[in-house]
Amino acid sequence: KGPDPDLVAIAERMSTVKHKILVLSGKGGVGKSTFSAQLSFALAGMDHQVGLMDIDICGPSIPKMLGLEGQEIHQSNFGWSPVYVEDNLGVMSIGFMLPNSDDAVIWRGPRKNGLIKQFLKDVNWGEIDYLVIDAPPGTSDEHISIVQYLLPTGIDGAIIVTTPQEVSLIDVRKEVSFCKKVGVPVLGVVENMSGLSQPLKDVKFMKLLTETGSSIDVTKDVISCLRENAPELLNVVACSEVFDSSAGGAERMCKEMGVPFLGKVPLDPQLCKAAEQGKSCFEDNKCSVSAPALKSIIQKV
Ligand code: ADP
Repeated sequence: KGPDPDLVAIAERMSTVKHKILVLSGKGGVGKSTFSAQLSFALAGMDHQVGLMDIDICGPSIPKMLGLEGQEIHQSNFGWSPVYVEDNLGVMSIGFMLPNSDDAVIWRGPRKNGLIKQFLKDVNWGEIDYLVIDAPPGTSDEHISIVQYLLPTGIDGAIIVTTPQEVSLIDVRKEVSFCKKVGVPVLGVVENMSGLSQPLKDVKFMKLLTETGSSIDVTKDVISCLRENAPELLNVVACSEVFDSSAGGAERMCKEMGVPFLGKVPLDPQLCKAAEQGKSCFEDNKCSVSAPALKSIIQKV
């Protein structure tokens, strides 16, 4: 029996890709796609050639986060062409194949597996420095498929995104042990949404809740009081813990599991806005709090 023709085709495609990074999370909603999107923007901003592949088949949010909603994939003699944000940042997602972004994808394992195989075999990335792969949460069919197909061609490693609280970290431990079992190096863990950080001048609402349950908006009063009496405080960043991280959060878990801790990204309303608008958080000092945190993490990868 000869070599598996699919694996041969995948190896051929991947021969023009220098580095492959998997972005994983134990749970959904922790900011994995946001991180994948911003990692891709950052690498492209450093003049690398970047591909971003979204294999979150049931919940593809990458097209929106890259500002590519409603775009379609084109086919040529060389395969499927990614959709380009910039000349050096191409994106592939099942989101581009759905007629309506509200449509649900209800697929069983073999069909998902088939699509991932096709993405790996047929997408014409060309010569690229980085392929960032945004995986679905957990360790399911998609993960097994991607590892099975890509491992023979080499995977640089996985970045695992989590929030600080223990319920999320339990699933990260599973993710780490999955990586160890299948032989994918863990590049490190990112703790996202660790605290809400905002310069005081950007605080959009500060409400006082009364005993009867109604609320009084004091934002304008507080900001104008600061402006008059202590303007130097307006740029000070206020930070408050949102999730309980009393158990030590991701950093301690990393020590226990012997994997690198890459850093913390605060909850930043500006980052959420950049993601909603499909923009890079590194442009125009848009995200004064989260962009430096993300940059320092990305430099460690
Ligand atoms: P996942 O891919 O893990 O399901 P997403 O990346 O889709 O999670 O993030 C869920 C939501 O949280 C999105 O609206 C995203 O913009 C927002 N979000 C993620 N990280 C942050 C952050 N650090 N600050 C503010 N909003 C964030």
